[in-house]
Amino acid sequence: MRAAVISDVHANLHALEAVLAAIDRERPDALWCLGDVVGYGPQPSRSCAVVAAHSDIGLVGNHDLGVIGSVGLDDFAPDAALAARWAADELSADDREYLRSLGPYDVGPSAALYHGSPRDPIWEYVLTDEAVLAAIELSPRPLVLVGHSHVALAVGGDEELQGGLAPGGTEIELAEGERWLLNPGSVGQPRDGDPRAAWLLLDVGRRRASFRREPYDVELTQREILEAGLPASLAGRLATGT
Ligand code: ZN
Repeated sequence: MRAAVISDVHANLHALEAVLAAIDRERPDALWCLGDVVGYGPQPSRSCAVVAAHSDIGLVGNHDLGVIGSVGLDDFAPDAALAARWAADELSADDREYLRSLGPYDVGPSAALYHGSPRDPIWEYVLTDEAVLAAIELSPRPLVLVGHSHVALAVGGDEELQGGLAPGGTEIELAEGERWLLNPGSVGQPRDGDPRAAWLLLDVGRRRASFRREPYDVELTQREILEAGLPASLAGRLATGT
């Protein structure tokens, strides 16, 4: 079984389309999305429809919950709150229904999936050694997939944990008896210094994980952000992947 894993699309339709084209070429058996389909970006409704049509497992993220009004926006940064309020008016009834139908985690036969972490499926950023260790220990499966931080990561192993940042091209062998935490990185707003859209190809049978990056038309998404009247900072950060 091979699964493509995506996360944090953030309404960046052009990044999403570039990733889906690359996924199509690999012909995986399933597509899993770890949440935050909307928020920040300029195409929330179409991104929602595309993810809903293509994903076999979908999770809800904190931005999705903010946009549909299931969590308050007080804890959001000002730019994020503004973009969430704007996106709320852009979603169709079907989009809202789709996001409402999703949970923040899903435990399958081969992996446990969380937007944040097992400790806090919606809000926790797994970026410190302590958070990685807790996620691996609390996961009901040896393989735990998380999103939310927008930083591609692969940490795991047997006794001693190895790994860290997982730039494009990173290939990991998930040996029998080992426990691993993987974050595919973000499709629509990468924050690990590489502006290309991130995704992960997981080969469950062969126990391999392959971290991929796809170039896309960043300037087109930036123009759409500005045309929508969203903060210029949300456009600027896409060029640097920060
Ligand atoms: Zn996010």
